Amino acid sequence: MIHAERNREGKRGRRKLPLRRKLPLRSSHIGTATPARISAFRRILLKWGEANRREFFWREPDVSAFGVLVTEILVVRTRAESVEPVVRELIRRFADPAQLAAAKPASISRILRPLGLHRMRARLLVRCARALVVKYGGQVPSSIEELLSLPYVGRYAANAVASVAFGQPNAILDANIARIYRRVFSIPITDERLTVADELWGLAERILSKARPREFNWAMLDLGGTVCTPRSPHCECCPLSAMCDEYQS
Ligand code: SF4
Repeated sequence: MIHAERNREGKRGRRKLPLRRKLPLRSSHIGTATPARISAFRRILLKWGEANRREFFWREPDVSAFGVLVTEILVVRTRAESVEPVVRELIRRFADPAQLAAAKPASISRILRPLGLHRMRARLLVRCARALVVKYGGQVPSSIEELLSLPYVGRYAANAVASVAFGQPNAILDANIARIYRRVFSIPITDERLTVADELWGLAERILSKARPREFNWAMLDLGGTVCTPRSPHCECCPLSAMCDEYQS
């Protein structure tokens, strides 16, 4: 649960953020992400994550790496809450890559219907499951290189599976997480989007808790999904408000 606290004016409510300032990127670090601030961010986020973790099927301890991989493929541009019952049913019916690879697309498509684009998603899952069977003996590989070799698995999904299913120190970065980094560390949006994206990935890897990557990544997703939302973020109950450049400006 996220506990609302009174903001500095003593009122409950969401805070309207000022327009983002454009600051130059520095050569030694991105925005205001100094080593001391990175360390504070990590510590605060992990502590908040422990107390505010959202419960999802794919976060349960006995969920297989295959369940995590299927989730990461389906959750693209889809709310986690919508994906949850679908993944639960899909994994109940097709517990491993061999079963999914042999399934009739129509039966997978029926399960995926609530998510939309169900035929396309069904084809996509079957291709991925077949690749797992052919290339990796029906197992989900643990290395980033092997995960990236699977169809429709990009950097985000590969890192998410490696960290969540195998506890490896791999960061994740999506629009929600990038938004938090940009706000906290005054990272400007520039026209050089690819360069900034690369730098954001570098920052994400530096901030990640190498000891607790799974919990850190979950906490980032939970903060971006429930507190540091795109419009009218709940700064008054954000654990990072004291160090957030955008809130303090
Ligand atoms: S990180 Fe926290 S304080 Fe900063 S903008 Fe987001 S919700 Fe507000």
